[in-house]
Amino acid sequence: MIPYVTDIPDIDIPSHMLPGDGRFGSGPSKVRPVAVEALARAAGGYLGTSHRQRTVKSVVEKVRRGWTELFGLPDGYEVVLGNGGTTCFWDAATFCLIEHRSQHLSFGEFSSKFAAAAVAAPHLCEPEIVSSEVGTHPTATAREGIDLYALTHNETSTGVMMPIRRPEGAALPSDGGGLVAVDATSGAGGLPVDPTQFDAYYFAPQKCFASDGGLWLALLSPSAQERIARIGASDRWVPAFLDLSIALENSKLDQTYNTPALATLFLLDDQLSWFNENGGLPFSTGRCDRSAEILYTWAEGSDFATPFVRREQDRSHVVGTIDLDASVDAATVAGVLRAHGIVDTEPYRKLGRNQLRIAMFPAVEPDDVAALCACINHVVGALAS
Ligand SMILES: *Cc1c(COP(=O)(O)O)cnc(C)c1O
Repeated sequence: MIPYVTDIPDIDIPSHMLPGDGRFGSGPSKVRPVAVEALARAAGGYLGTSHRQRTVKSVVEKVRRGWTELFGLPDGYEVVLGNGGTTCFWDAATFCLIEHRSQHLSFGEFSSKFAAAAVAAPHLCEPEIVSSEVGTHPTATAREGIDLYALTHNETSTGVMMPIRRPEGAALPSDGGGLVAVDATSGAGGLPVDPTQFDAYYFAPQKCFASDGGLWLALLSPSAQERIARIGASDRWVPAFLDLSIALENSKLDQTYNTPALATLFLLDDQLSWFNENGGLPFSTGRCDRSAEILYTWAEGSDFATPFVRREQDRSHVVGTIDLDASVDAATVAGVLRAHGIVDTEPYRKLGRNQLRIAMFPAVEPDDVAALCACINHVVGALAS
């Protein structure tokens, strides 16, 4: 555990060195000020109005279309949304996507949680859990009897990303193979993905989509929709709030089953439009690539910082984890940064490393990542003298 820092050394970072925006948290993460201003302008005719009427339904319709465009979804895929965030979607998936037995890649706090939900579900068989050391990722293996492969695009707790591919040798779901379900909460919009490689790609808007938490979004292939319909028609009891067939039905009408947060929808639509108007996924992922290049190049050249993730291709382009030398206390560095308005660079608490964790979602300016690196150098230099 990183101890709570009470004594922040009195170190001054000159204001000209500070990043333009000091939010580097991994979720909730930076919301672009222009989106908040747009919301304030629209508020009078939008906030506090019925989600069953045109004003709000048109925003839902626009985000559903926006994601179809951003990800280049093939015909027949549906964009579905509901309340409760990704954590809620895991429970919905244990009811409506896993038929009997799932396989989970577990390589950090978030990926282990969906696995735990499947273990706890009394109506499912014991899942297969494939784990690897923190800082690495395991590989999915095609196996008889597995009807869902659970992957995580970016493990936010450790800063490891993995390419999304169907398991080697696995039959397509339309030929009896398992569905591929991907937790893309921190990866969606910031990392490239080929939609033919997944059946469910789910996320929440408080990371790359620069909005607030509380919603879940899922891109569902025709095979995933068939699975939902088949389980829906079976005698399995499913709570209505977690019933993906109800969510699918409502989404097709540009609605949610119960009341969504309208500000959240507005902000995520603003971010999604910003992506699509500037070139789509190559634009949004390109920003993350640039930030990651700056961060890891700095760490590799530093005599006190090292990228935590050993293999270069596993180092996340959306959430960077940087170990500091034992002679430099990361909590103190994060504390000095915080005192200057540079917030949420602390590591994931359960990882317990002498580390800084830095979000590089598309809303973050690559130049601000460069300024952050210079500020860290300045703080560490001042601590040593
Ligand atoms: C943030 C995060 C979650 C949790 O999302 P909630 O919306 O808070 O439930 C799950 N998985 C990953 C990979 C995350 O980064």
